[in-house]
Amino acid sequence: MLFSKKVSVVTGASQGIGEAIAQTLSKEGAEVILIDIQKQKLEAVAQRIISEGGKAAAFCVDVSSFEQVTKVTDEIIEKHGQIDHLVNNAGITRDNLLMRMKEEEWDAVLSVNLKGVFNLSKAVIRHMMSRRSGRIVNISSVVGLMGNVGQTNYSASKAGVIGFTKSLAREVASRGITVNAVAPGYIATPMTENLPESTKKMFMDVIPLKRFGTPEEVAYVVKFLLSEESAYITGQVISVNGGMLM
Ligand code: NAP
Repeated sequence: MLFSKKVSVVTGASQGIGEAIAQTLSKEGAEVILIDIQKQKLEAVAQRIISEGGKAAAFCVDVSSFEQVTKVTDEIIEKHGQIDHLVNNAGITRDNLLMRMKEEEWDAVLSVNLKGVFNLSKAVIRHMMSRRSGRIVNISSVVGLMGNVGQTNYSASKAGVIGFTKSLAREVASRGITVNAVAPGYIATPMTENLPESTKKMFMDVIPLKRFGTPEEVAYVVKFLLSEESAYITGQVISVNGGMLM
């Protein structure tokens, strides 16, 4: 097993891509620490992992709160002894044309998608630096690379995650820590299931592989980036998008 004796923190783990990442890492022997704001769903995911023989703990935390994140990270390190992996996956959308976008819609998306990444990374980095090892994977988006109508807030946050990833990768490389981003294309999850059929068709038309991705297909790439096999990869953005952007 790739991750026996490793402790992996995954945010946004109660559904979709985060849940698939947690399940995938658990199957490789990692003790998974699940963070999300949806308490019941989160606990159900943790229970499922435990009932399948894995080790999991759930923490109901808002990643946009610096205070909550700092507190819970200290608690995790105290209870579980270490953090080897951080996967910043929690994210939201509040789509609107810029003309109609409310300040709250801008602030909400930037707070969760970008400040959340800052909060968790800052909370774990000293710990990882003192251990001279660690892996951070940030979930960006194809939209952070190419933009999208109605998503100025979301694409700014996801492009910001890429800049953050590259800068932090440079800061901590000498301590043996790698920081990478994964940029999914259209993945079938609760986030995308309620999009209008016309939007889904628009995406399908520009995906050369002619299907939407699965959460597991993103999780496999995250697993690789957390493994020893990826030790020489840092500051990179790996696309998982069915060829939508080449
Ligand atoms: P999802 O199904 O909506 O799951 C995201 C999870 O994060 C939800 O449980 C959500 O709770 C939780 N969350 C939201 N705000 C949070 C906060 N402040 N603190 C803690 N947890 C919070 O989304 P997904 O499709 O799996 O996406 C996962 C990541 O991949 C996101 O960063 C997303 O931007 C990115 N991504 C997704 C796609 C795609 O096509 N699905 C494509 C590119 C990138 P609520 O449901 O209550 O908000």
